[in-house]
Amino acid sequence: MIVIRRASARVVEAPLTVPFRIATGQHNTLHNVFFSIELSGGIKGFGEAAVATHITGETVDQTLKNLKEAAAVCAGEDVADYRSFLQGFREKFAGNHAALAAFEMAVLDAWTRSLKLPLWKIFGETAHPLRSDITIVIGSLEEAKVSAALYSRQGFKAFKIKVGKDHDLDIARVLAVKKAAPRASIILDANQGFSAKDTLKFIAALRSLKVIPVLVEQPVVRDDWDGLKKVTQSLRRQNILVCADESVKSLADAVRAVREGAVSAINVKFMKSGILEAEAIARVARAAGMELMIGAMMESSLAITAAAHMAAGMGCFRFVDLDTTYFLKGPLSKSPYLDDKGCFDLSRAGGGIGVLS
Ligand SMILES: [Mg+2]
Repeated sequence: MIVIRRASARVVEAPLTVPFRIATGQHNTLHNVFFSIELSGGIKGFGEAAVATHITGETVDQTLKNLKEAAAVCAGEDVADYRSFLQGFREKFAGNHAALAAFEMAVLDAWTRSLKLPLWKIFGETAHPLRSDITIVIGSLEEAKVSAALYSRQGFKAFKIKVGKDHDLDIARVLAVKKAAPRASIILDANQGFSAKDTLKFIAALRSLKVIPVLVEQPVVRDDWDGLKKVTQSLRRQNILVCADESVKSLADAVRAVREGAVSAINVKFMKSGILEAEAIARVARAAGMELMIGAMMESSLAITAAAHMAAGMGCFRFVDLDTTYFLKGPLSKSPYLDDKGCFDLSRAGGGIGVLS
């Protein structure tokens, strides 16, 4: 038996170095909820709910309330069979998957720590090395130039440029990144800011300037499956991947994306679906030959490192977008397994996630 003695939830805040701006909104601070559990032997586990109200509609208040309610009823429960235990709690977090992710994360952290296993071991046999991209947020041309030069010097090899607000400025920002980091790969994320037609026009304009992104993420609004399909079919001929983020929030969405051939890649995030469903989404997408990205909301080193464990263990994520700690100030910005170039090395990890103890 592995029994929970007590659990609790609290709000955490951290300042950002710059506002994290995307086409549909922005984060000015990290404002999340941490969940912690303690097992009967004294071993602890920690989880994080990253609340992105402008993306998911979830709120910090509701997330805190749901996690406090879960804390009150999980004491005394046996988590040895963690999959069925977590399955039994899913219903309590309907519509609040950031809270579900935090709950699962804390249980998995404690469970693996109690067995002295790094978290990645429940997802695979080796800890594959991971290298994250870095995000160039929506902003001025000057900001894009300064950030791209800084991150290029720092050693990043892949840039994810947020676009979808202003065609001409976005083109100039992409060119500025290309100039600052000529050999780096370029990913575009429109966060639903384009129509299918806008997307193809944007890519054609870049192509005429000899810039070809490797992947375009969520070009159109999330319910525009026809638009996604159209962009995917057209860009497939140009060897450019089209990745669903906001359109795929669940296993059911992933199954739809596979059946309809709507995209060629999926961005998997714990905060959209919880952890075990994220794993299931990744397995379905890979089985169908799609590429995978591991992504995150505005997460501190706790949730970012937990996501890195899954990606490292599964070894099937070609794109790694786990860069939010670089936008944070203070202790929550430090992961023990992430260097300043975006490289994760979890082969050194001890028990659990290894961030809080
Ligand atoms: Mg995205």
